[in-house]
Amino acid sequence: MNKSTIATALSVIEARRRKAEAVAEANAQLLQKDDRWQANDKAIRLCNIDIAKDKLNERDASENKRRLAKLLVERNDLLKKHNMTSKDLVARYSCPLCNDTGYVKGNKCQCLRREVTKLLSGNCGYVDDSCTFENSTETNPDNIKTMEICRTFSKKLNDTRFRIVVLLGKTGTGKTYLCNAMANEALKNLNSVFVITAYRLSELFLQCHLSSQEEKLTVLEDLMDTDLLVIDDLGVENTFSNVTSEYLFALINERIQRGNKTVISSNLTVAQIRDRYDERIFSRIADRKLSIVAKLTGNDKRISEPTKK
Ligand SMILES: [Zn+2]
Repeated sequence: MNKSTIATALSVIEARRRKAEAVAEANAQLLQKDDRWQANDKAIRLCNIDIAKDKLNERDASENKRRLAKLLVERNDLLKKHNMTSKDLVARYSCPLCNDTGYVKGNKCQCLRREVTKLLSGNCGYVDDSCTFENSTETNPDNIKTMEICRTFSKKLNDTRFRIVVLLGKTGTGKTYLCNAMANEALKNLNSVFVITAYRLSELFLQCHLSSQEEKLTVLEDLMDTDLLVIDDLGVENTFSNVTSEYLFALINERIQRGNKTVISSNLTVAQIRDRYDERIFSRIADRKLSIVAKLTGNDKRISEPTKK
């Protein structure tokens, strides 16, 4: 039997931990080659013992404390000489929540859940960081207005009553660019973000449906929990009966309940979305208390722009 996706994800996270620890270890070994560092290191250890003894015997420790302070200044100078700080001697873990162990108090850490999602979705989730509001070359006044609405939403993600932005427009009007710009804006403000095409999401739902209960719940929890979920190009994906609409509704609905924000872009009109998906999905998307429906207009940029190599 194949290794489970969770086990694979854990080995990815474990590799990150080993790498972070190896870097710290290599730095420590480098310093050990410096005789002055070795002497200073030993002196600090002995001085700390002396201070402990002073305390134990209720003696005045001020002399030893002064000595220690001097030694610590020397230690900093030595670190500087090697272009290091004391932080270079401790492992810098990618995930400060679990120190790259994958678990927090026995529960799967969000980094582990995200890794499982990435593995099952074929490594989705990456945001194109060249697509930002600052870099936009949009000139159409209506689209600029739409972009401003989207920018405000993603900038004030934790501060808006809206839960969903539906971005409508024909192919090539810049929806994917805007999706990524919103994701980048949210990332700037330290929100967790996941970007996926509807095509991939539908495949992921099917994968989840066929996976073990533990894997399925891990991925769904990740998708429900992320601060901003961007579903690009709804309407072109294969829909799997009893899977796509069911999972999509459950996901969107749970995200609304949790106060998390979702961006959906589509070539379809609102009416076409109603016809293609569950009535319940439509009712959430069309709810003006929950959703902003924004439109992008114009010609296909991918055709009208000269090809860049
Ligand atoms: Zn973690």
